[in-house]
Amino acid sequence: MEEGIWTDARSLSLDEWGGLLEGMGEKPFRRKQLYEWLHRKLAGTWEEMGNLPGSLRDRLREQYPLLGLRTVEVQTSALDGTKKFLFALADGNAVESVWMQYPHGNSVCISSQVGCRMGCRFCASAIGGLTRNLTPGEMLSQVYEIQKATGERVSNVVVMGTGEPFDNYESLIRFLHMISDENGLHISQRNLTVSTCGIVPGIRKFSRENLQVTLALSLHASNDEKRRRLMPVAQAYPLAEVMDACQEYFALTGRRVTFEYSLVAGVNDTAEDARELRSLLAGQNCHMNLIPVNPVREREFVSPDRHKVLVFKNKLEKYGINVTIRREMGRDIDGACGQLRKRHMDAGPDKREDA
Ligand code: SAH
Repeated sequence: MEEGIWTDARSLSLDEWGGLLEGMGEKPFRRKQLYEWLHRKLAGTWEEMGNLPGSLRDRLREQYPLLGLRTVEVQTSALDGTKKFLFALADGNAVESVWMQYPHGNSVCISSQVGCRMGCRFCASAIGGLTRNLTPGEMLSQVYEIQKATGERVSNVVVMGTGEPFDNYESLIRFLHMISDENGLHISQRNLTVSTCGIVPGIRKFSRENLQVTLALSLHASNDEKRRRLMPVAQAYPLAEVMDACQEYFALTGRRVTFEYSLVAGVNDTAEDARELRSLLAGQNCHMNLIPVNPVREREFVSPDRHKVLVFKNKLEKYGINVTIRREMGRDIDGACGQLRKRHMDAGPDKREDA
């Protein structure tokens, strides 16, 4: 892993703090004290860290910015309590995150980048392209702010918001280690999911990280020709290679891969698509998640009606594929990925300030 590419306090690892504090002539136990303030007690300021000497806090404040997120807007679903958060980053960019309550616990969906350069045709996050990567601290802060705002423990995190996690690889890996660290929120790695559009070298590298994280693969089409039309990334990585990398992920980690399939009426919801999926997924130890596509204003795609979604699901089940329809959360709030942020950007800088 590249060392020293982040200087904000929340992105620094326990080991890095160890070295830095030692260099400042501090006692070894300060390392854990400081780390727990940042990642377990979720301190937002240096002032809060009462058991650290004032002189140390002053030095840290000068050298390691403790960058927070400012909550710009929260939308709460009247249907299921799902909350969408729009956060402003220290540089004025904005990201969105979602909080969902499930019977098994509270789940947060975080963004990994400001914007995205993958260009998927149905996705609102792709519209403005990529602005920049998020730091590990900014990824963690989304979870921390939501846990503080709701007052409830977050038990699951999915890296499925705006951005392509494997396009911000080092930051992602550090985030996964820090969120599951026993000195931090200590969320079990088995409760973490990373969703990728299918960057094959990223999947292969990820398989070898020794993590117990779930990999979700955005499939969305049953053949290369169709997939290339929906997802430009498919031009670089054909399905045969993607499926092979997924199979290897299962072989090396023992974690079953989830395939995401956003159903678009008349595009990928036919009987022929179901048949092709059967051949494609033969031999994969996997689970398939059907997502009726979320309409995005700038995009022409619409979801099949409920009946057609069920027919498609039943066909896949008949073919022996383990399949669920994603429970639709927060239907009444800016549903699709990136729409809240997009609306905020469209409003322009003047209206944004007091949004
Ligand atoms: N870049 C990653 C993670 C972010 S997108 C990836 O591609 O997996 C998270 C998931 O939402 C992906 O499966 C993506 O294809 C899907 N998605 C994006 N826009 C959507 C929309 N309008 N309706 C349904 N699913 C969508």
